[in-house]
Amino acid sequence: MSIKDNLNQIKSELPERVTLVAVSKTKPNEDILEAYEAGQRVFGENKVQEMVQKWEDLPKDIDWHMIGHVQRNKVKYMAEFVSLIHGVDSPRLLKEINKQAKKYNRVIPCLLQIHIAEEDTKFGLDKAELEELIESDAFKAMENIKIVGLMGMATFTDDENQVRKEFAQLKSMFGNLKTKLDDITILSMGMSGDYQIAIEEGSNMVRIGSSIFGARNYS
Ligand SMILES: *Cc1c(COP(=O)(O)O)cnc(C)c1O
Repeated sequence: MSIKDNLNQIKSELPERVTLVAVSKTKPNEDILEAYEAGQRVFGENKVQEMVQKWEDLPKDIDWHMIGHVQRNKVKYMAEFVSLIHGVDSPRLLKEINKQAKKYNRVIPCLLQIHIAEEDTKFGLDKAELEELIESDAFKAMENIKIVGLMGMATFTDDENQVRKEFAQLKSMFGNLKTKLDDITILSMGMSGDYQIAIEEGSNMVRIGSSIFGARNYS
């Protein structure tokens, strides 16, 4: 199947409320353009420099989402154009995004990444850290970022119940956050292997790479 066929197949399965982020990390510009020509406009990358290069080379009406772990010293390279940062997992990172966004006179939409998986290798805030962050005076004073929702990654396992349980937990935190902040609209959960479950558990943004572009080659 071609990229276009894969994309159309997946899009036909998604409920209307669900936004598809096509995860193009490691993939060449030709592949992205094939998806673009099939109508896709939202792409996700996990390395800042790679995303900047693609932003420079590709059509300007693409929405670039940073879905990976972000180092603070890299924020400045994407502050001009990034349309959503999914992986915000510390007050210090948020502060840096706020600072860089200000230089461009922008308000950068961000998702807070929550640690829902059992593996401790996955980044993210826990419930108490989330609470502390949104209650802090420093956060309330930030004018150049806007928290618009939550993002999480489930444990990499065949145990569907485990994955479902983790997504349900994130959905519940999302509901709770809505009662505390305005503008909370995005729940980013689900990848190639688990997006159907994520959608059943309330996701409205899925990040899908290999099912669209094929397996990645990191060599
Ligand atoms: C790579 C990546 C994805 C996409 O993974 P696939 O399994 O290829 O769909 C989604 N989210 C994050 C955070 C990623 O790093």
